[in-house]
Amino acid sequence: MSKIEFTHQIAVIGAGVAGLAAATEVARLGLKTALFDDGMLGGLITNVGTLDGPPNHNGEAGADLVTAMLGAALEAAVDYQMGSVAKLTAAGDYWRVSGDEEVIVPRVILATGAQLRHLDVAGEAALMGRGVSQCAFCDGGLYRDKDVVVVGGGDAAFQEALHLAEVCANVTILLRGQAPRARQSFVGKVTGQNNVRLRVHTDVREIIGDDGVDAVRLYDQSLDAEETMAIDGIFPFVGLAPQTTLAPETTKRDDYGGLIVGADMQTDQNGLYAIGATRSQYGGQVVHALVDAQTVAQGIHQAVR
Ligand SMILES: Cc1cc2nc3c(=O)[nH]c(=O)nc-3n(C[C@H](O)[C@H](O)[C@H](O)COP(=O)(O)OP(=O)(O)OC[C@H]3O[C@@H](n4cnc5c(N)ncnc54)[C@H](O)[C@@H]3O)c2cc1C
Repeated sequence: MSKIEFTHQIAVIGAGVAGLAAATEVARLGLKTALFDDGMLGGLITNVGTLDGPPNHNGEAGADLVTAMLGAALEAAVDYQMGSVAKLTAAGDYWRVSGDEEVIVPRVILATGAQLRHLDVAGEAALMGRGVSQCAFCDGGLYRDKDVVVVGGGDAAFQEALHLAEVCANVTILLRGQAPRARQSFVGKVTGQNNVRLRVHTDVREIIGDDGVDAVRLYDQSLDAEETMAIDGIFPFVGLAPQTTLAPETTKRDDYGGLIVGADMQTDQNGLYAIGATRSQYGGQVVHALVDAQTVAQGIHQAVR
């Protein structure tokens, strides 16, 4: 038996929807739970103006769902710790979770989520926040009656384009491929907007501007030709990169960097679980994060009984 004195029974790293739900579930099962949050409480959905799909189906703001979930976590007596986790160290049959505070636990749930990918083209980094944005809800108002480009063909790109269409003069969605991956409900809504157009087989090669965005240099794959398009803003939504740097390097990952887990959400490291956008094969929606949270809580409950 370990001689280590555990500070908590579970540490959950990341207070997005997956981490908030998992911490609440395990705490409700009677396990002393620490939840670490690096200041971006709620994670990706915090900036979503109108949530699509479950749990509420009524288009509530992401921030409202996060507030309700934090309330539930605190009510379940989750020990909520502000501050980023800088290091996660495996030490035999326990884990040391180090940030501003340190906790020692037999089990860690990694819920550090994902970051929006960048286009990685010239001009993007320099103009981030000055014409390049990844939040239509936060920044859309700055582009009232202006022309913007959204890059990407998934749900997030289409959802954000719909939000921009309410304020901008023109929204052009640029796709590298032939067809969008977004759900038909989003595609249908976009098609119904007369100020949104879809342009396929097009790559962004450069974002041009000094103090703000003036134009994008595009490559039209069909014509095998470049062109410059004048715009006022650009919103890249080209996928998510799982944040897994805290997991030991040897932890198995998929080709996209997501942590590979079993049916109980455990990685190949004993006592290290991964849920939500940080894991391989994540479903992509809030409802999937909630299911992951339930699954990991039930698995841990059975393991400790
Ligand atoms: C633009 C956009 C729109 C979307 N719209 C919808 C929608 O309408 N409906 C829907 O169901 N889904 C939507 N989604 C998907 C949904 O946002 C995600 O599936 C979900 O938020 C993933 O939650 P998560 O908790 O796994 O990860 P995240 O939301 O990424 O949360 C991870 C959390 O961990 C924190 N963290 C990271 N590293 C550390 C560390 N070292 N220490 C402490 N904390 C750390 C992060 O700051 C963050 O708070 C949308 C996604 C995007 C990008």
